[in-house]
Amino acid sequence: MKDQYGRELTDLRISLTDRCNLRCVYCMPAEGIDFRPQDELLTDDELLLLVRVAAELGVRKVRLTGGEPTVRPGIVELVREIHATSGIDEIAMTTNGLLLEYLARPLADAGLNRINVSLDTTDPDKFHRITRGGKVEKVLSGIAAAEAAGLLPIKLNSVVVRGFNEDDVVSLAALTVERPWEVRYIEMMPFGSVGDFAEAGVVKSEETMEKIEAALGPLTPLDLSGEDPARTYRLMGAAGVLGFISPISQPFCAKCGRLRLTADGRLRLCLLRDDEADLLTPLRAGATYAEMKEIFRAAAYRRPFGHALAEKMFPQARVMIQIGG
Ligand code: SAM
Ligand code: SF4
Repeated sequence: MKDQYGRELTDLRISLTDRCNLRCVYCMPAEGIDFRPQDELLTDDELLLLVRVAAELGVRKVRLTGGEPTVRPGIVELVREIHATSGIDEIAMTTNGLLLEYLARPLADAGLNRINVSLDTTDPDKFHRITRGGKVEKVLSGIAAAEAAGLLPIKLNSVVVRGFNEDDVVSLAALTVERPWEVRYIEMMPFGSVGDFAEAGVVKSEETMEKIEAALGPLTPLDLSGEDPARTYRLMGAAGVLGFISPISQPFCAKCGRLRLTADGRLRLCLLRDDEADLLTPLRAGATYAEMKEIFRAAAYRRPFGHALAEKMFPQARVMIQIGG
C-alpha cells in the first residue's frame, strides 16, 4: 500500500485508549480532557478486524500506544490476537512503563517484540513535576522487567522541555555508557490546548546534542539516513545509542510511512494535521469487509505530504493523549 506521494505504508500505530495513569505536561492540559465514552471506542473485535484489513493491505509492523496502552483491559489477550494476525511481523509498544513490572513478561509471552518506555528524567522530583504525579522508581522497575522479559532493544523516549528537564539530557545519555539502550530525545510538538506551552518550551535537538557533547565528549554518527525518524549517535565506548527525533528543526515527512489509528476509530493521516478518516462509523453501519478494506486503502492513499508547523499551523482538534504517539 502506498500513499499519493509513493510512500510505502507498512507501519500502523494503534492507540488503544485515550485514558492514562499519568498527565504529562506536553501531552494533556492541566485541567484534563474529555475522555470519549467507552461505547465510542473501538472494541477488541473491531480493532482486530482493522488490523486484519491493514495487514492484507501491506502493514507489517504494529505499534500499540495511547493514552497508556497498558491500562486497556484485556491488553495481553489483544496482543496475542494481533500476533496471530497473518502478515503482522512485529508488534511494539510505547508505554510510560508504570505497569511493566507486572505486564512485561505476559506481554512478551503473548507476542510483543519490543518496547519504548517514556522517561524524561531519572530525577524523582522532576519526574513527578513533568508527569504531574508519577513515581520514577516504578518506571525504572518496569524497564528492568522489560529487559528481563527480552523486550529488546530497550528504547527510552525523552521529550525535552525547557524549564523542566533540559539539563537531564546529560544524565539520560550517561545511561547508555553502561546499558545497551537507545535513549531518544524528542523535540516537543504543539497540539491543541498545549500548543502554546509546547511552542514556548521546545528545545531543538542541536542544543541537546551540544549539551551532551560538552559534558560527555564527542558523538560519533551511526545512522543519519533518515530511514528512521531518529538520527543516531554513540558516545565514545558506550554500550548503547543516542537518537535525536527532530520534527520541528528537521522534519522527516518525506520518508514518513506511518498510519495512525485512534482509539475512537479514526485513521489519522498525519500526526501533525487534523485530517482524519472515520472508520468506526462505516464499520458500525454494517460495511462489508471488502468495503472497509477499500475505505481504509482510499484514506491511506490521500495522506498529506507533511505538516505545516513552519507556517505556524498546528493541529487543534486533539492533544497527543487523544492521538497516540
Ligand atoms: N503513554 C505512553 C507513553 O507515554 O509512552 C504512550 C502514549 S504517548 C502519547 C507516546 C509518546 O508521545 C511518548 O513518548 C510521549 O513522550 C510523546 N509525546 C506526548 N506528547 C508529546 C508532544 N507534545 N511532543 C512530542 N512528544 C510527545
Ligand atoms: Fe500519559 Fe504517555 Fe501522555 Fe504521559 S505521554 S500523559 S504517559 S499518554
